[in-house]
Amino acid sequence: MSTYINMDTLRFILFDVMGAEKMLELPRFQEFDKESINFLLDAVKDFSDKDLYPAFREMDEDPARYEDGKIIVHPVIEKLMKQTAELGLIGGGFDFEHGGMQMPAMVLQAANFIMEAANNNVPGYPGLTAGSAHLIATFGTEELTQTYVPRMMTGEWAGTMCLTEPQAGSSLSDVTTSASPTEEGHYMIKGQKIFISGGDHEYSENFVHLVLARIDGAPAGTKGISLFVVPKHRPTADGGLEFNDVVTAGDFQKMGQRGYCTTHLMFGSDDNSRGWLVGEPHRGLKYMFQMMNEARIAVGRGGVSVATAAYHASLQYAHERAQGRRINNDGSKNVSADQNLIIEHPDVRRMLLKQKAISEGALSLIFQASLYHDLTSGNEGAEKEKNHLLLEMLTPVAKTYPSEKGKESVDAGLQVLGGYGFCSEYILQQYYRDIRIMSIYEGTTGIQSMDLLGRKIPLGGGKGLKLLQADIQASIEAAMAYDELKPYAKVLIEKLGIVQKVLGFLMPFAMKGEHERYLSDATLFMDLFGTIIVAWQWLKMATTAKQALVSGATTFTADFYQSKIHTMRFFYKYELGEVDSLANTLMHPDVLTILGEEEIIV
Ligand SMILES: Cc1cc2nc3c(=O)[nH]c(=O)nc-3n(C[C@H](O)[C@H](O)[C@H](O)COP(=O)(O)OP(=O)(O)OC[C@H]3O[C@@H](n4cnc5c(N)ncnc54)[C@H](O)[C@@H]3O)c2cc1C
Repeated sequence: MSTYINMDTLRFILFDVMGAEKMLELPRFQEFDKESINFLLDAVKDFSDKDLYPAFREMDEDPARYEDGKIIVHPVIEKLMKQTAELGLIGGGFDFEHGGMQMPAMVLQAANFIMEAANNNVPGYPGLTAGSAHLIATFGTEELTQTYVPRMMTGEWAGTMCLTEPQAGSSLSDVTTSASPTEEGHYMIKGQKIFISGGDHEYSENFVHLVLARIDGAPAGTKGISLFVVPKHRPTADGGLEFNDVVTAGDFQKMGQRGYCTTHLMFGSDDNSRGWLVGEPHRGLKYMFQMMNEARIAVGRGGVSVATAAYHASLQYAHERAQGRRINNDGSKNVSADQNLIIEHPDVRRMLLKQKAISEGALSLIFQASLYHDLTSGNEGAEKEKNHLLLEMLTPVAKTYPSEKGKESVDAGLQVLGGYGFCSEYILQQYYRDIRIMSIYEGTTGIQSMDLLGRKIPLGGGKGLKLLQADIQASIEAAMAYDELKPYAKVLIEKLGIVQKVLGFLMPFAMKGEHERYLSDATLFMDLFGTIIVAWQWLKMATTAKQALVSGATTFTADFYQSKIHTMRFFYKYELGEVDSLANTLMHPDVLTILGEEEIIV
C-alpha cells in the first residue's frame, strides 16, 4: 500500500510544536494523556489503512448517485459510521453531561486528518453528524437533545447542515425556506435545499437535518433566520418513525469528491414536513455559526489532508522514476551513465519541497487553531475570552490557506509525475480534482477573505490582531536564541511590519465609508496574511526541531529534525517572498475592479 501520511510529522506537530501534553493538564481534558491519544491515533490509522484507503479510488470510479429515488454510496460508509462512533470520533468532543468524553479538538483533528488523508471522501459523513448533534446539544431543548443526540452519537442517525438554496449560496440573508407555526408546538417547513453533503443514503436509519428557515412574518435579512431540526423520519409516540416529507430529489455529479454525496432535498412538498425550533426565533444564523466555524476548520483540514496524501504519492514516484541526467559543473551530461532518479533534479526537488512546505505548514496551522479551540473550551474568564478571539482570527485563515495553497501544492505534485500525472492510472489526478472543492464550500475564498479583513481584523478594536501578534512575537523570541534561526526570525518581524503598512493604507478607506474599496482586494490580503501566519508556524517547527537537536532530547532521527529546518528555509525563500509583491498590489493606487458607471468587462 502507498504511504499517504507521515505519522512522525503528525506527532511532532501535535506534541512537540503545539505542546498538547501541557494543554491536557487543563481539568476539562483530564481523561486523556499522551499514551491514550497515541493509542487512539494508532487505531484510526489501522482502520484507515484497512478500510478507508482501499475504498478511495473505488469511490471515485463508482461515484455516489441517485437511482430510483435513492442515493447509492459506497458500502464502506456503513462501517465508517459504526467505527467512528466506537472510536469516539462523533460525540467524543461533547461535554460529559451530553454523553461525550470531552476529547480535545486537537485529538479529533489529528484522527480526522489521518482518515481524510487516506480517503477524503469519507470524514464528512460522521463530521457533519458530530457538528449537527453538537448544535442540538448546545442550543436545543432537553427534549430535542434526548430525542436526537444519543442516536447520532452512535452513528445510527446521520446529521447534515442545510443552508444553501438555489438563490442563497454565499448570501444566506436570501434564504426563503419557510416555517409556519402550529398549535402543537412544531413548525411546518417548506422549501428546498441544494448541495447538501451526506444528505441521504441507505446506511443511516434516519437523517437529522439542521435547517435554516424563515418563520412567517420574520424580518428580512439574516436577522429573520431561525434554526430547525427537520428529520427525514420523525419519531412517533410509540417509539417508531414516520416519514417527515423530506424528499431527496437528486444527487449532484461532481468533478471531485465523487464518493461524497451532495444531495438536493425538498421539504414539505406534501405540506407534511415538521420542524422543531432550536433555541429562540430569529437567532438561527448565530447558532449555525458554531457548526460553520467547526466546519470551516474541518474544510481547511480537508485541504491539508489531500495535499499531504498527494505529497507522499509524488515523493514515492520521484524516488522510483529515472529520467535524464544531472548537469555537470562544466554544463555537460554523462549520457553513457544510468539515468538519474527524478528526485535528483533541482526542479523536481523544488516542487516536492513546495508540497512539503505547504502541507506541513498548513497542518501546523490547523493544530494552532485547534489549540486555541481547546484553550477556549478548557478555560474560563479572561483566558477563555483571549483564546476565543485568537480562534476567531485564525478560523478564516485555517479554512482558506490549506484550500488555496493546497491546490497549488497538488498541482506541483501532479507536475512531478509528468505525463503520468495526467493519466487516470495514477492517483494525482484524483487529488487534483478532489481538492478543488475546498476553496468553494463552507464559504468561498472571497467570502472568507472579506470576513478576515472586514470583521476579524477590526475585531474588538484590533484586539484579536494584537493578541495574535503577541503570540507570533513569543515564537520570534524563542527562535532568536539560535544563531541559525535568527535571520528567519528577523524576516518574520519585517513581514509583520508589511501587514501594518498594508492595513495603514487600507484602513482610511473603511474609515471614510468606502467599504467596497476597502474590501475589494480582500482575497489578496488573505493570501498575504495566510502566508505570514504559516511562516510563523514554520518558525515554530524549526525552533522545536533545533531545540531537540541542541538538547539531544530527540524522539525522531536527526534527519527528521534537519528536514524541518530545511523546509522552513525553503518556505522563507520561495513562499514568503511572495508577500512583497502582494503588498505592492494591495497598495497600488489604481482601482480596476470596482463597478463604475461604464461597464469595462465586455
Ligand atoms: C460539493 C458541495 C458540497 C456542499 N455542501 C453543502 C452543505 O452540506 N450544506 C450547505 O448548506 N451548502 C453546501 N454547499 C454549498 C456551498 O457552501 C456553496 O456552493 C458556497 O457557499 C457558494 O455558494 P454558491 O455556489 O451559490 O456560489 P455564489 O454565492 O453564487 O458565488 C459565486 C461567486 O461569486 C462570489 N461572490 C458571491 N457573493 C459575493 C460577494 N458578496 N462579494 C464578493 N464575491 C461574492 C463567490 O465568492 C463566488 O466566487 C456545498 C457545495 C458543494 C459544491
